[in-house]
Amino acid sequence: MKQVRVRFAPSPTGPLHIGGVRTALYNYLFAKKNSGTFILRIEDTDQARFVEGAEEYIMESLEWCGIIVDEGIREGGNYGPYRQSDRKTIYRQYADNLIDKGDAYYAFDTPEKLETLRRESEKAGKTFIYNAEVREKLINSVSLKEPEWREKLDKGEPYVIRYKMPYNEDIRFDDIIRGHIVVNTGTLDDKVLFKSDGMPTYHLANIVDDHLMKISHVIRGEEWLPSLPLHILLYRSFGWDPPLFAHLPLLLKPDGKGKLSKRDGDKMGFPVFPLFWPYGETSKGYREDGYYPDSFINMLALLGWNPGTEQELFSMDELINSFSIDRVGKSGSRFDPEKAKWFNHQYLQSKTNTQIAIEFREFLRARGYHVDIIRLESLVGMVKERVSFVKDIWEQTDFFFKAPEIYDQEVVKKRWKEDSSRLLMELRSLLEKATDFSASATEPVIKVWIEKNGYNTGEIMNAFRLVIVGALRGPHIFDIISWIGKDETLKRIDTGVALLSK
Ligand code: GLU
Repeated sequence: MKQVRVRFAPSPTGPLHIGGVRTALYNYLFAKKNSGTFILRIEDTDQARFVEGAEEYIMESLEWCGIIVDEGIREGGNYGPYRQSDRKTIYRQYADNLIDKGDAYYAFDTPEKLETLRRESEKAGKTFIYNAEVREKLINSVSLKEPEWREKLDKGEPYVIRYKMPYNEDIRFDDIIRGHIVVNTGTLDDKVLFKSDGMPTYHLANIVDDHLMKISHVIRGEEWLPSLPLHILLYRSFGWDPPLFAHLPLLLKPDGKGKLSKRDGDKMGFPVFPLFWPYGETSKGYREDGYYPDSFINMLALLGWNPGTEQELFSMDELINSFSIDRVGKSGSRFDPEKAKWFNHQYLQSKTNTQIAIEFREFLRARGYHVDIIRLESLVGMVKERVSFVKDIWEQTDFFFKAPEIYDQEVVKKRWKEDSSRLLMELRSLLEKATDFSASATEPVIKVWIEKNGYNTGEIMNAFRLVIVGALRGPHIFDIISWIGKDETLKRIDTGVALLSK
């Protein structure tokens, strides 16, 4: 295989969708697997769609995901500049070259005129296609005599440069994922290559740059497949060898019905962007929702690529080792937000209590609680298995940090009995005497007391949990009281009994 050079070529038109992150990831994995180079090229030739902040967002997203750019606008490289607007002066000569060869032409039709033609066709139930069938009837350097179109150019009339799509020709090409494809040019139009604003369109800039940057494989989303016949023709016109192409399957909505769109996340309650998007209409991000980047990447890697084994958990290095484009499927992959959580759960379980405690300490600090790491480690140990995110630990343990302010009324109605106050006060006096407040010391004392008196364990434990926690939830009650300590335990019993016996 020739030297592998791949590129991720997003347009900075807004936040990067997770489908885009997956494209970047597959390019990256393929590059690293084959000792190649991963290039980030910013395709910003469409100035009208440019969005401030998007370029930085793209770079920060890749960085968060651990996708390391070898050549790009920040990293530099021998094939720069890597932002198309900084390469503006490069493209014109290539458009001119195609005109000289007779494969492109100047077109002077005004946008208004084209719009009218489009509408007329629509009325007649047809689609207007600017191609060999109508070319001669429109205003361009194919239909006009040379002195006429030259005069227009000299007078400075606005024009675009269009590709002269061959008439009724079968274009044949191969895609690594989709195999052999044949498209007849009859369905294709004379695409604009160069716009009246002096900028190339995506098609021209993309082909010129892939060639100049010596791209060996183009790995991109399926939505670009319809552009491929034109791209193949452009390579032919320039006399360049095309790279190899791989068009990745779509990411589908959780119900499998249609493409996962930028709007779906907010509608369905899960993020569709790697990071929070802070501009204009804001959007949630995986990072801010508490996902670990390695879990996010692991989940994305398996949306379209299949390792061929039962293995589901892959570190980035393992992904690099196992990845191959041959194992990327043709059909769309359904995005499953529950599976995304499952991955995070797995990654969280694989961390040590100390690692999680450090993260949770940050979370608590932001809420004004300062707790030492040893105590947090034991807390994490109690609830770790039940949580998928560090932020979930708070929901499971808030009562460790603050006494209940309200008591679950359902529980009070069902579980708080006539003699609950008296029993809890007896229990209180036993706990007050305890010198060792660890669960292993207090639990047997209470058990023996219950047994000796023939009390109902359930009744006592429910009432006890109610005054300590405020509800019937949480880890083992003796672990809870050991963690909050004797003073706090006795205080909560007193408050609870006082309020509930009223
Ligand atoms: N700029 C295109 C995009 O936004 C790149 C498509 C390609 O990779 O050729 O996805």
